[in-house]
Amino acid sequence: MRSHLLNDTTAELYRSSVTEGIERVAAKLATTSRPFTGVTPDALSPTVDAVNLDEPLHDTIAALDELEDVYLRDAVYFHHPRYLAHLNCPVVIPAVLGEAVLSAVNSSLDTWDQSAGGTLIERKLIDWTAARIGLGPAADGVFTSGGSQSNLQALLLAREESKTEDLARLRIFASEAGHFSVQKSAKLLGLPPGCVVTIPVDKDKRMRTLALAAELERCKADDLVPMAVVATAGTTDFGSIDPLPEIAELCAQYDTWMHVDAAYGCGLLASRTRRDRLDGIERADSVTVDYHKSFFQPVSSSAVLVRDGATLRHATYHAEYLNPRRTVAERIPNQVDKSLQTTRRFDALKLWLTLRVMGADGIGGLFDEVCELAHQAWEVLAADPRYDVVVEPSLSTLVYRYVPATVTDPAEIDRANLYARKALSASGDAVVAGTKTGGRQYLKFTLLNPETTLDDIKAVLDLIAGHAEQYLGDTLDRAS
Ligand SMILES: *Cc1c(COP(=O)(O)O)cnc(C)c1O
Repeated sequence: MRSHLLNDTTAELYRSSVTEGIERVAAKLATTSRPFTGVTPDALSPTVDAVNLDEPLHDTIAALDELEDVYLRDAVYFHHPRYLAHLNCPVVIPAVLGEAVLSAVNSSLDTWDQSAGGTLIERKLIDWTAARIGLGPAADGVFTSGGSQSNLQALLLAREESKTEDLARLRIFASEAGHFSVQKSAKLLGLPPGCVVTIPVDKDKRMRTLALAAELERCKADDLVPMAVVATAGTTDFGSIDPLPEIAELCAQYDTWMHVDAAYGCGLLASRTRRDRLDGIERADSVTVDYHKSFFQPVSSSAVLVRDGATLRHATYHAEYLNPRRTVAERIPNQVDKSLQTTRRFDALKLWLTLRVMGADGIGGLFDEVCELAHQAWEVLAADPRYDVVVEPSLSTLVYRYVPATVTDPAEIDRANLYARKALSASGDAVVAGTKTGGRQYLKFTLLNPETTLDDIKAVLDLIAGHAEQYLGDTLDRAS
């Protein structure tokens, strides 16, 4: 069994195994004609259940053959131009190369003595990101597993900086279009139910700053403590960007931590034409960025950045066996001092190779392309009488709904849209998302693939209309 350990004597098996796996994936990519097979959990479960994990195959080729059945054949393929559902991007090759390197070397970024150069690379990328945001000379941060963890860590720092022992008095303000990880974080941080004050949005789904001002004032009047305002730069559904300069003003006025959740909108940091949409982000106390959403990186790749690096001390604990207190005086860079995680992947390597091969302009250009596509798709939707589209996109999502001319019952229209989404996914022709707004069922495109064309969008809209009409026709038949 030692022949399976990756070391100096097994280079040949390493090379042939990984190459074989890469060949399978490359062949898959070349032949996948649909983003999804439409398989149901019930149909796929028996195949996975039938595998006896206590009876190994002892053969890489056989295991890869089996993988075809349990995974590769029915996986959801984000690289396909008609995958239009969630915030999953197609990935760039330099990052995939980075993934292969980082898992083989397997550095752990908690301490210098487990990573060496990896630590310096991560630090340089944090500095690079902080500079793109404009956070100033004291900025710092750390890579995380994702936006949810970044938001949790940012809110932990905000809670500690509020210097309030009585957690019941703390309040967090976020828009109604903000991400649910804010609520989850509040719960994990021991804050009371109801501590997240939801601020209404305007017609463009941006936080209403007048309402925020009123809530902050009320908080003060009630002798409560405004712990943080979470501004979202790219809401998950609408891609809307809250008015960052006005929110920064209010945070300054009420002495409140400003967190910007740019999990989705961070791609604009690399854009040469749309960076101004993030104006005001430089005034944040903390920022969440998800490179695995708009920097075309494989999951996971994310970071939390802070204006004042000293605030990261709230996540610092020392262990004699790992990062003893004296290492701080010795100026040994142990990233675990800044992180909620201990053992941690060297995800930064993926972004590093991406920037070294393609450059930031390359990434920003790809994100610009999908933002432009979303704009064109919005024009198509707005002009199509079959559809109602909610807002003109600031980034690359579109929330819309099929509205038949002949049906007026909104609940029936909800069901037709739900049906169309399911039928489309079952057919495997395309995958779109669904969401609710104003209590009604809508559909959503999240456009992150520059290979998607306007013709793809038009074709998918025709497919959706076809499925919805079929549903309505069938219910009419049943009624008569
Ligand atoms: C996706 C998203 C998150 C959560 O990020 P994960 O990487 O999925 O944990 C947080 N905020 C916003 C606005 C998001 O779109």
